[in-house]
Amino acid sequence: MTELATPPVDERTGVTRISHWIGGRSVAGESGRTGAVYNPATGRQTGEIDFATVEEVDRAVQAAKEAFVEWRRVSLAKRAELFFRIRELVHERREEVAKILTAEHGKVLSDALGEVTRGLEVIEFCCGIPTLLKSEYSEQASTGIDVYSIRQPLGVVAGITPFNFPVMVPMWMWAPALATGNTFVLKPSEKDPSASLWTAELLKEAGVPDGVFNVVMGDKVAVDAVLRHPDIAAVSFVGSTPIAKYVYETATSTGKRCQALGGAKNHMIVLPDADIEMAADAAVSAAYGSAGERCMAISQVVAVGDVAQPLIDAIKERIPNVKVGNGMDPSSEMGPLVTREHRDRVASYVESATDEGADVLVDGREDAPADGFFLKPSLLDNVRPGMKAYDDEIFGPVLGVARVESYDEAVRLVNDNPYGNGTAIFTRDGGVARQFQFDVQAGMVGINVPIPVPVAYYSFGGWKASLFGDRHIYGPEGIEFYTRGKVVTSRWPDPATSRVDLGFPQTR
Ligand code: NAD
Repeated sequence: MTELATPPVDERTGVTRISHWIGGRSVAGESGRTGAVYNPATGRQTGEIDFATVEEVDRAVQAAKEAFVEWRRVSLAKRAELFFRIRELVHERREEVAKILTAEHGKVLSDALGEVTRGLEVIEFCCGIPTLLKSEYSEQASTGIDVYSIRQPLGVVAGITPFNFPVMVPMWMWAPALATGNTFVLKPSEKDPSASLWTAELLKEAGVPDGVFNVVMGDKVAVDAVLRHPDIAAVSFVGSTPIAKYVYETATSTGKRCQALGGAKNHMIVLPDADIEMAADAAVSAAYGSAGERCMAISQVVAVGDVAQPLIDAIKERIPNVKVGNGMDPSSEMGPLVTREHRDRVASYVESATDEGADVLVDGREDAPADGFFLKPSLLDNVRPGMKAYDDEIFGPVLGVARVESYDEAVRLVNDNPYGNGTAIFTRDGGVARQFQFDVQAGMVGINVPIPVPVAYYSFGGWKASLFGDRHIYGPEGIEFYTRGKVVTSRWPDPATSRVDLGFPQTR
């Protein structure tokens, strides 16, 4: 087994120093700028993270650039074998990383394990890289001439990731990037960075050569250094919409390929013929799972016609049963929010809801555990466009309900929203569901499925302000994003037919 560097822990405070990973080893930051990492369930600081300088980002890029020379030559068979090994290691150690996620993000252990499992699906997809990179060949396209296409890696590529899926979202990026022959620089969220170092150590143990996968910790300084670095060919970003837009505009202005996934406001339409108990179960699970800190969380129910009151009653009935507590406790179903500031911001939407004309049916600020950054689930009725609780992505355990008269009004509400990540419809009518799939302007659609995150052999991505760029992430579009095409026109001349011809080449 490879000897792994463990981050130093301050014996007096118990705070762990969290540094960069460059060229296959842990590298202490030298900027003197740091941030605090907390256990959100206790509110205590557990880590101190280094923030990279421009020079430190450059060191990571140079390590990746050097590693690229050999990495792109590794055969598809060997890359596939390596991915099978990575798959086995992640699977064996999933509980270990789940605990890291719970300790820094706050999500409950079962949810953290679910995150690892969904990330593993992307690694499993990448085990098939020899098949995924198969291309086309036209024999005798012209007399004696064959034409074929190949896809080649871009070089050094980078990923910038959000706090809410600290291990899965990086897997969406590094797995297809490495499988296609690129080398990688990851800038994870500064709020819960340790899962990235766990990944770096695991990849080293699996046999990924030094420099192929690097991690730089940091804030805007590190992000800007990535976006402007001339040796980075492509940037994948997942995070909030204003930063996604900034990342896309800056990266493309310096000639990089970029996919930047942004925020969301996911609506769940419930039609009068829906199974109310099933719809209520789905709404509660999808709104409050992971304390609503999912880009595919349902944050707005749209109740059509007379389904509204019985549906709201059924949701309200379920809320007191949601067990809120420390994610390490196996009986907890919902953990804390990621930081104190975020908890307070989410609470402010409940605070202002009544003044804006909504009705607070359940107030999650009441009886929330005192330690840590907890809120309980909140339910707001009569939430409409123009209210902050509707217009903003709250990203917390606050579910709004809008009451509308018809299917058309419900779809208009969804389509008028600037975001277009996920959406769902609950109905027993197959014809209406099919119409919905045709009408709705969102990238991922659920029919009686509240969180329609695509399986790994499809691609993930929203529309409108939820995605900047042309390619969705992972799946077949991920393979395309991290490669570029080349078409070869080839002739092995028969000397007997050779002659000078100055005309434009034509098929014969
Ligand atoms: P965020 O936008 O604050 O941060 C994302 C990344 O950008 C982090 O690495 C952060 O360090 C960096 N960053 C933050 N501010 C920056 C700035 N001013 N300049 C440059 N870089 C900056 O997002 P977050 O709070 O970590 O994550 C939550 C958001 O991510 C939500 O909006 C959620 O919807 C979104 N998200 C979207 C998807 C998706 O697939 N569409 C998936 C997960 C999360």
